Amino acid sequence: MLLKKVGEFGLIELLARQTSRAHPDVIKGIGDDAAVIRPDAQKHLLVTTDTLQEDVHFRMSFCTPFQLGKKSMSVNLSDIAAMGGAPLYYFVSLGVPSKITVDVIKKIYRGMDSRAKRFGAVLLGGDTVASPGGLVITVTLIGSASAKEVVFRCGARPGDRLYVTGYPGESALGLRLLQQGGKLSGRNRLAAKHLDPLPRIDEARAIAARRLASSMIDVSDGLAADLRHILQESRVGARLYLDRLPLSRAYRKNSAAFSSDLYLAALCGGEDYELLLTVPPRKLKAFEKLVQMFSVPCTRIGEITAEADDLEIID
Ligand code: ADP
Ligand code: MG
Repeated sequence: MLLKKVGEFGLIELLARQTSRAHPDVIKGIGDDAAVIRPDAQKHLLVTTDTLQEDVHFRMSFCTPFQLGKKSMSVNLSDIAAMGGAPLYYFVSLGVPSKITVDVIKKIYRGMDSRAKRFGAVLLGGDTVASPGGLVITVTLIGSASAKEVVFRCGARPGDRLYVTGYPGESALGLRLLQQGGKLSGRNRLAAKHLDPLPRIDEARAIAARRLASSMIDVSDGLAADLRHILQESRVGARLYLDRLPLSRAYRKNSAAFSSDLYLAALCGGEDYELLLTVPPRKLKAFEKLVQMFSVPCTRIGEITAEADDLEIID
């Protein structure tokens, strides 16, 4: 059977089933933003890995090596954030084309490590191989959280409210503008969202430490697609109100570059690396108070319903 017939998620499910084996230390293997391992009763380790491949996930002509390094770290930090964890250690595997210079690689690592340092992670190793195609960067990031803090995708319950941080869709618009070329002045905010997303580690840690979220995921595939992951894992449905979606001025001004449908980029554009989370009714007051301290907006966009896997988008 051809891979394209089952798709990425079909493949992951198939491989997970084929290799599934219980292990006493493992709380969660495949199927969330990071694996969760319990080395002792109080502390959980969170492990995630993500790959950026040249001309699939990035173009050297769109970004500087420093930005590329930062982004390859940020996408992993975002997965640790989504579990409510704090980053600790990272490993990097590089597939390098023969024509690359040492200077470029040094700049990538400078970017990667500046982002890692900001959130407290240190490089512990990796691997280097030749790549016949383009540059491939795989970062594996290990974080931790106390047992009580970890937030899974599977905890959403009917009645919980649905929140998203930031302005989903801006990254997709930024990519579209980069692809269209031309002058980006004044539109830099969108391009910057695509090239240099800031993982919501601080916000997620604050939420997780107070145990305010019943489920959480980072928005990497697109708001609707990632909401579906929460719905599937939690066996619930959701109502999402289009008019509540946080659309920035820059978004409204440029949304036509993505689609004539104003909401499409926000719903289906990927790579926002924002947090999508659910909050139980009894914790709403504390949550609303906490998010006022955030430097990024956190917007209520819907609620969880009882019918499994039923996503109702309300215009
Ligand atoms: P994210 O977008 O949050 O990084 P992914 O969709 O890449 O999540 O992965 C979802 C889950 O599937 C994770 O638990 C991840 O570790 C696992 N996974 C992804 N690709 C593979 C693979 N090739 N083999 C085994 N597990 C995988
Ligand atoms: Mg994720």
